Amino acid sequence: MTRSTKILSILTVIVLVVAIGALSILLAQSPPPTPTPVVTPVVIPPTLSPTPTPTPPPASPTPAPAEPAPDLPPGLSLAGPFVAGYSVNREAINVYRFGVGEVLVYVLGGIHGNEPRGAELATAFLKQLSAATLSAKVKEHASFILIPRYNPDGLRAHTRVNAHGIDLNRNFRTRDFNPAAARDRHYGGTQAESEPETRAFLALVRKYKPALIYTIHQPMNLINYDGRGETIAADMRHINHLAVKANIGYATPGSLGTYFGAEREVPVITLELPPLNTPNWNRIIDLNVRAIAYSVRQFFARLFPTAPAGAH
Ligand SMILES: [Zn+2]
Repeated sequence: MTRSTKILSILTVIVLVVAIGALSILLAQSPPPTPTPVVTPVVIPPTLSPTPTPTPPPASPTPAPAEPAPDLPPGLSLAGPFVAGYSVNREAINVYRFGVGEVLVYVLGGIHGNEPRGAELATAFLKQLSAATLSAKVKEHASFILIPRYNPDGLRAHTRVNAHGIDLNRNFRTRDFNPAAARDRHYGGTQAESEPETRAFLALVRKYKPALIYTIHQPMNLINYDGRGETIAADMRHINHLAVKANIGYATPGSLGTYFGAEREVPVITLELPPLNTPNWNRIIDLNVRAIAYSVRQFFARLFPTAPAGAH
């Protein structure tokens, strides 16, 4: 190795050492690998955000005019719900219609809010109508008008009365309506038809005149009737074996039964189901749905008697 070559080698080594040193310094100074960014969770609002409860309007001292009755189109299948009107707390009072006939059968549940099985039975009746094998006469002539929750505020609050503290089954303009009645849980108000629920129902009834009304209550476990309802009640007893009573045992001024049954010749059946703590409700509901259906069938058989064979 010549001297010049030796120097060149040394220089090369020096350059290499310096280069490696510089590189290591550079590497040491390079920023650490960027960590995977943490994904900030995006809060997605629920699709069905609860609708804010509308503020009920202030109670007006004078009764508001009657709600206009809804138009209920005829149809063999169930139609509705339609809104007959609104409760004191502005909850809709829903109406359903089933059938094409001209003779209207009403089924009402929950006029007393602490009798929820009546609302349940009316709903069960509504559901089973579509599947029911109805007689030819019922199919041809009947329409069912159903109001499962007549007193929505009472049902929500588990009170007999509506949100004004009025018994809606004492608020009708009957001859015996008593504005001076004791202010207990049967109080019907200082004037008849003061309540929006009553006025909504009467607007509906003026437009669609009932031929027969079933109203479902608790807890007396009997069948009560007003007007010409005795035969219908007896037909129901044939299925549910409950006692039939023309008189419930105490005066009911301003009641729906007195208004329609005793004073307007529309038979009214007040079906009293047993108390809430009765076991086996599904069976009771089913039995009483069948009792109503059977008595409706018999009612239409009497209303449209089949002409005897050979008659002209
Ligand atoms: Zn009742």
